[in-house]
Amino acid sequence: KLVIQMEVKELEQLIGKNFHYYQTGQVADYIPALAEVDPKQLGMAIYDLDTKQLIEGGDADVRFAIESMSKVPVLLLAIKDNGIEKVFQTINTEPTGFAFNSIMNMEINHRKHPMNPFVNAGAIATTSLIAGKDADEKFERILSFMKEICDDPNITLNEEIYHSESRTGDINRSLAYYMKGNQMIEGDVPEILDAYFRQCSLNVTATGIAKLAAVLANKGIAPWNGKQIITEESATIVKSIMTTAGLYDESGEFSVHVGVPAKSGVGGGLMAAVPNRYGIGVFSPALDPFGNSAAGIQLLKDVVKELDADIFE
Ligand code: GLU
Repeated sequence: KLVIQMEVKELEQLIGKNFHYYQTGQVADYIPALAEVDPKQLGMAIYDLDTKQLIEGGDADVRFAIESMSKVPVLLLAIKDNGIEKVFQTINTEPTGFAFNSIMNMEINHRKHPMNPFVNAGAIATTSLIAGKDADEKFERILSFMKEICDDPNITLNEEIYHSESRTGDINRSLAYYMKGNQMIEGDVPEILDAYFRQCSLNVTATGIAKLAAVLANKGIAPWNGKQIITEESATIVKSIMTTAGLYDESGEFSVHVGVPAKSGVGGGLMAAVPNRYGIGVFSPALDPFGNSAAGIQLLKDVVKELDADIFE
């Protein structure tokens, strides 16, 4: 493929062009603190592996809750802690065809394991595998890994979101107890959930997410300092699961129309890893009916087209 570089000006133009799509979505309201976020925001950061340059536009530096995008780095840390084999003995890698917080899919399909790490059951199982004696220790390890892989020392816990998540997290509690009761996970459920609620409530920026995605795109090596943060194999596996299950029940559509491994979160974030070329972070909080950033997807689609980055082309 040709090396195509995008100018900041061009990115700002595409942000301007797609901004209005926020009107087609709504901010998540099932977590009260997310309902208060201003929907009129759109930003993107692109880490170009060829030039090792960051291109940032719009609200790329605004802090927002990582939510389900945390499922990616926590899976990477669980693999570091336990190895690939153990992690995928505990969690399957199939798309569910059910909502992200469904308990039913495990029952109906007579599953002995949560179906994939990017639905809530699978993500809670992933957090159960993080080393640490309690929620504090697990969370501290997650936080320091996040800071490293996003190259962002300023990631903090958003207390308001965390308390909101914890107060309203009964479906997540039911998923965790269901799995514990069926011997799908081990450990203390309240501790695991507390770490899970905190991992979802980390304040990140599109820029940090672009850098995380750049590590995934770059065979696990941080392009800014050459350090192998994760193994090449785990980067490959995670990109595959992002392709089949990264955008909830919109993953198939997204693969057809955009065509890059990606993961979304209900805070309005999107991360996309284009193998060997780009790491991309997007932020726009208004969500489409599937729970994915409405303007974020439209912008990503234009940018991927502009960069000729559809991996299936
Ligand atoms: N903290 C959210 C939950 O567990 C994450 C959901 C998401 O971003 O999809 O419900």
